[in-house]
Amino acid sequence: MMNISQLLKEAESGFGAEGLPTPGLDAEVLLAFSIARERHFLYAHPAKEISGVEMERFRSLVAKRIKGKPVAYITGRKEFWSLNFEVTPDVLIPRPDTEILVEEILRLSGQEKEVKIRILEIGTGSGAISVALASELKNASITATDFSPNALAVAEKNAVNNKVGEKISFLCGDMFDPVEGKFDIIVSNPPYITEHEFELLAPEVREYEPRRALVAGPEGTEFHRKLVRDGERFLENGGRLVMEMGADQRFAIEKMLKEKDYCDIVFHRDYAGLMRVAIAKELKINNLYTW
Ligand code: SAM
Ligand code: GLN
Repeated sequence: MMNISQLLKEAESGFGAEGLPTPGLDAEVLLAFSIARERHFLYAHPAKEISGVEMERFRSLVAKRIKGKPVAYITGRKEFWSLNFEVTPDVLIPRPDTEILVEEILRLSGQEKEVKIRILEIGTGSGAISVALASELKNASITATDFSPNALAVAEKNAVNNKVGEKISFLCGDMFDPVEGKFDIIVSNPPYITEHEFELLAPEVREYEPRRALVAGPEGTEFHRKLVRDGERFLENGGRLVMEMGADQRFAIEKMLKEKDYCDIVFHRDYAGLMRVAIAKELKINNLYTW
């Protein structure tokens, strides 16, 4: 028998020797998962002995992590916006930086509490953005798309598990193909890594996460271009397009937006200080309606 503190130390030094970036955290998440407890239980009971079955379970998870599998795919779950999401290898693991898109949309919708806001998300993956928005905005009706049926199945499950299943309609198809109607906000975290950058990503991203969730051609901006071009047809006049982006894509994206009927173009940085979100307002001249 070994206790919690000893098992954590053993796993942490194994992960450290492999050069994994967050060895202590990974060990805690995997041990808590193996004994079906929350992480704070580990801090409260460092001397608690762990049974043989649980210890074997933990060690088999540790072995998977050492081979490079991301912790979220091992446990099958990831927290986003303090909500629990199920993740499978069919969906991108939601990134903390993406919470900025949710924050900005909540800020934009702040003045419109009573109005029914229509939101469209293109490429919902695990459903992270749409589920977080649905949990916050009482009067939102949300449409979320993805071209991967397997990803959509995960997203729908996440909506139901977070009790917002009836607020989100899920549609399968390429970009705007399955979409009808007008929206006040279009949001997307599209693929935006160039083919070259993809080759340079950490193996745990490159070898485990879905390539088609990440890679966007040689420039990395081909999905933004489609969102900017086709988004106009689906945005209400005065509506906003909110896109996640790569840190060095600002000028390319600003140019695309300026070539179309967008104004009030703003960019926001992520917690690491990198440019991460582009927001623009669709505004046809001679129309005074804005929301
Ligand atoms: N919204 C999720 C998030 O923020 O964690 C996932 C974002 S992931 C970067 C991009 C998503 O777009 C993936 O789920 C992928 O399946 C989807 N996708 C890629 N190409 C697409 C296309 N042509 N049409 C619709 N969805 C697409
Ligand atoms: N931020 C992600 C990464 O670094 C990329 C997300 C995307 O392409 N939309 O892996």
